Amino acid sequence: MGAQRTIYMDHSATTFVKPEVVNEMIPYFMEHFGNPSSIYGIARESKKAIDTARVQTAKALGADPDEIYFTSGGSESDNWAIKGVAFANRKRGNHIITTRIEHHAVLHTCQYLEKEGFEVTYLPVDQYGLVDPAVLEKAITERTILISIMYANNEIGTIEPIAELGAIARKHKVYFHTDAVQVIGSIPIDVNAQNIDLLSLSAHKFYGPKGTGALYIKKGVRIENLIHGGGQERRRRAGTENIAGIVGLGKAIEQATVDIPGHSAKIRAMRDRLIRGVLETISHTRLNGHPEKRLPGNFNVSFEFIEGESMLLWLDDEGICASTGSACTSGSLEPSHVLLATGLPVEISHGSLRLTLGDANTEKDVDFVLEVLPKIVTKLREMSPLYLKSGKEGGCNVQ
Ligand SMILES: *Cc1c(COP(=O)(O)O)cnc(C)c1O
Repeated sequence: MGAQRTIYMDHSATTFVKPEVVNEMIPYFMEHFGNPSSIYGIARESKKAIDTARVQTAKALGADPDEIYFTSGGSESDNWAIKGVAFANRKRGNHIITTRIEHHAVLHTCQYLEKEGFEVTYLPVDQYGLVDPAVLEKAITERTILISIMYANNEIGTIEPIAELGAIARKHKVYFHTDAVQVIGSIPIDVNAQNIDLLSLSAHKFYGPKGTGALYIKKGVRIENLIHGGGQERRRRAGTENIAGIVGLGKAIEQATVDIPGHSAKIRAMRDRLIRGVLETISHTRLNGHPEKRLPGNFNVSFEFIEGESMLLWLDDEGICASTGSACTSGSLEPSHVLLATGLPVEISHGSLRLTLGDANTEKDVDFVLEVLPKIVTKLREMSPLYLKSGKEGGCNVQ
């Protein structure tokens, strides 16, 4: 046995770095290695490179370059946005609103702030993972200082009505942060039209390098620093800049946003064929997330009577890289907090599989998964006492 080739269907966990991006980064390791805070020639090259990346990033978001701050990734950006706004606005209030389906970089930050005396409301979502704007509005109080709602979910792909949620935040004069780590290159962003005050992104989710991200902070937002030290990033984020990483982020975001409709359509077509094929050939399956309001590459499905972990091992044996729920929960037997928030029963959530498509995929990959996945599900079900007892062989899908 053993796989002949690798089929990568885990683009929500991370992506490969595009060759054009790597080529852009290389000179900044050896030739232009200067510290941008210094004044000689090679340092100026580094400084210029950061300025260029800042312009590229701002352009992709409809922001001003002065509103972009480079960080070490999505987790740092989320931590900075939430802790920074919470601590800077403590006198105005101690209430934060977020949702039950956020990434752990947001959820664990909010839980930390609860220990520091803040109150956090975790909004529920419907069966598709959508936040109801009316429920958000009702949750706002005199003491609310920040609303943090992800743009699209990393596990089930559901896209939230961000402009509408942002408008509610603005109406009540509450800062609005969104974790947009999953959406760069899939949905066009305009921070002003969408009423966004703070936005997190991470290069390794859109074919850039790991360990580099950015936080958009709208001019005038009151926020404290997270990393203290030198005066880098206009005195707001200390630490010698990760020049090569920042250059890579700039190039990657420029490329990812050059033709969002065309790129999304191509990925969506492959993904839709995969969804149809799986739901039509395998019984007792359920599509998780919203049928239309979902990221173009995301497919999240639950198979009854199966353990997701064993499915991953069998898929790995065929060279297919997939995930249960999210990378953070892979390897643990905790049911996904996102699937549970959509009301999926614990037993069914255990049998969930996430396949996320992207630029590493071709139609042939879809053919191969459609060929092997039904066989794996059948084999695992044949080994499952629950399945045999249920007498459900040959039934129809749970929608
Ligand atoms: C990947 C991810 C993060 C974390 O980003 P890192 O750059 O890996 O720290 C945060 N939020 C979401 C929605 C993500 O998908």
